Amino acid sequence: MAAPTRLMSRLTLVTGGGSGIGRAVCQRFASEGASVVVADINEESANETLGSLQRDLRGQGHMTAVVDVTSKESVTKLITSIQSRYFQPPSVCVNAAGITQDDFLLNMSEEQFDTVVRVNLKGSFLVTQAVAQALVSCGSNKGSIITVGSIVGKVGNLGQVNYASSKAGVQGLSRTAAKELSRFGIRCNCVLPGFITTPMTDKVPEKVLTKMQSLVPMGRMGRPADDSGYVTGASIEVTGGLFMG
Ligand code: NAP
Repeated sequence: MAAPTRLMSRLTLVTGGGSGIGRAVCQRFASEGASVVVADINEESANETLGSLQRDLRGQGHMTAVVDVTSKESVTKLITSIQSRYFQPPSVCVNAAGITQDDFLLNMSEEQFDTVVRVNLKGSFLVTQAVAQALVSCGSNKGSIITVGSIVGKVGNLGQVNYASSKAGVQGLSRTAAKELSRFGIRCNCVLPGFITTPMTDKVPEKVLTKMQSLVPMGRMGRPADDSGYVTGASIEVTGGLFMG
């Protein structure tokens, strides 16, 4: 259930906000009172997300931005455009932009490997760095950066050596960022979804999805708006970062 004022007056940035998980995050943030910057490489889908958002309570409004997270120049432009509109950097950032290009290790091209790592890992780095730099330089002492990893980064998956590597990488990125940025009041965390029905999983063969589903104790794929309804068997550390890996 959304808490309508929980994020009131918070400025939030969601990359990959035009589709799937990113879109559901934008909708949840807006329904909890936040202003949302819907950032995506796909302008049309970002606009569709924008059109689906509840009005924010403080009247600052939401905005869309076209960004390619693999480009430092594009990410810098994104942060500049946010600051010129809202006169502050986002204090909540979700790195949800991501892609897959599956193939077996024996066949995977260098290009396929590089492309996926560039979007999923380098993209998360560039956005995390730019948001953190903006927060630190404006003297803010509060921020939260969430990166969407994947269970595949932890356990591996057939045909996804590039994706699994990128998603293992973002866990290291998040932990290191958490260690470095805690002193500025910026928290960094990673969430690891399993299989969630989105345009990304539409590309997975039905046979594979059925097999995966049979391994899920809850017996179904997740939905982007599931919230904690698809969290089970997890141990979430609430330690201020103590003993993180
Ligand atoms: P999705 O529906 O394909 O959404 C990803 C969005 O990111 C798309 O709008 C995509 O645009 C955009 N994007 C791609 N490259 C970009 C770039 N260079 N710069 C900015 N935006 C870019 O996928 P999803 O399933 O919601 O995935 C969201 C995140 O969750 C990803 O990081 C994914 O790896 C992760 N995840 C998903 C699942 C799952 O089962 N669905 C499981 C674990 C983790 P285009 O459509 O134009 O490419």
